[in-house]
Amino acid sequence: MTLLRFDNVGKRYASGRDALADVSFEVAPGEMLFVTGHSGAGKSTLLRLIHCTERATRGTVVFADRNLGKLRGRRISLHRREVGVVFQDHRLLADRSVADNVALPLRLRGMHRAEVAKRVRSTLEKVGLGDREKSLPRQLSAGEQQRVGIARAIVAEPKLLLADEPTGNLDPALSTEIMALLESLALRGTSVLVASHDLALVRRMRKRVLVLDHGKLIDDIGPGDLAE
Ligand code: ADP
Ligand code: ADP
Repeated sequence: MTLLRFDNVGKRYASGRDALADVSFEVAPGEMLFVTGHSGAGKSTLLRLIHCTERATRGTVVFADRNLGKLRGRRISLHRREVGVVFQDHRLLADRSVADNVALPLRLRGMHRAEVAKRVRSTLEKVGLGDREKSLPRQLSAGEQQRVGIARAIVAEPKLLLADEPTGNLDPALSTEIMALLESLALRGTSVLVASHDLALVRRMRKRVLVLDHGKLIDDIGPGDLAE
C-alpha cells in the first residue's frame, strides 16, 4: 500500500532555481520517516509540494491515488484536510486559548460546537495537554506550545502529518519528547514526514531517512541503517 508517491519530481521556481530534481520515493500508511539535508537542499520545497502550496514542474506527486499536479480549487482544500502541518514556530494565535487554537481547523469546516469540543478534548489528551485547555499559549513552555501545534495539526485526523523542523527551537530533551509523540501518532496509523537538519536527533530515532543534497535525493536509508 502506498499513501504518497513521488515519481521523478522536479521543482524549478520562477527565479530559475532548481529546488528539486528527479526525486522518487514512496511512503506507506502509518510510516514515519525523516527528510534531511543542508539548508537549501530542498526539504521545505518537498513538503510544499505535498501540501500543494507549490506544484511540481516535472514528474508527478500522487497522494491517496490523486495526482496533485491536476488538483484545482476546492479539490486542493479537500486535499489539505488530509495533510496536517506542524511548523517550527508553531504559529499559535496568542490571544486564543489552547482549546480555541486546536478547534480552529474544525470550526473552519463548519463542524458543530459539541463535536468540536469533544474532538479537541481527546486530541489534547493524546498530546499530553488534557489539563491546559483554557491556558493561553504564552502560559505554556516551548515544548507544550509545540504540542499544541501538533494537536491542531492532527485534530482533523489527517492521513499524513508534515513537520518542518518541529524541534528547531527546542533543547535535546524536549526534542526527544516531541519525536516520541510523533512516533506514537505513526503507531496509530498516521504517516509522519519530518524535515530536520538535526542529524543527531534523526539518528536517535532510527527511522527511514531520505537525504537531499542540492535538490537531489542522494540516499533513502532504511530504519536503523543510518551509520552512528
Ligand atoms: P531547505 O528547506 O532544505 O532549506 P528549500 O526547499 O527551502 O530548502 O530551498 C531549496 C532551494 O530553493 C534553495 O536554493 C532556496 O533558496 C530555493 N527556494 C526556496 N523557496 C523558493 C522560492 N519560493 N522561490 C525561489 N527559490 C526558492
Ligand atoms: P520556511 O519554509 O522555513 O517557512 P521560507 O519558505 O520563507 O521558509 O524559505 C525557505 C528557504 O527558501 C529560505 O532559505 C529562503 O531564503 C528561500 N526562499 C524563500 N523564498 C524565496 C524566493 N522568492 N527566492 C529565493 N529564495 C527564497
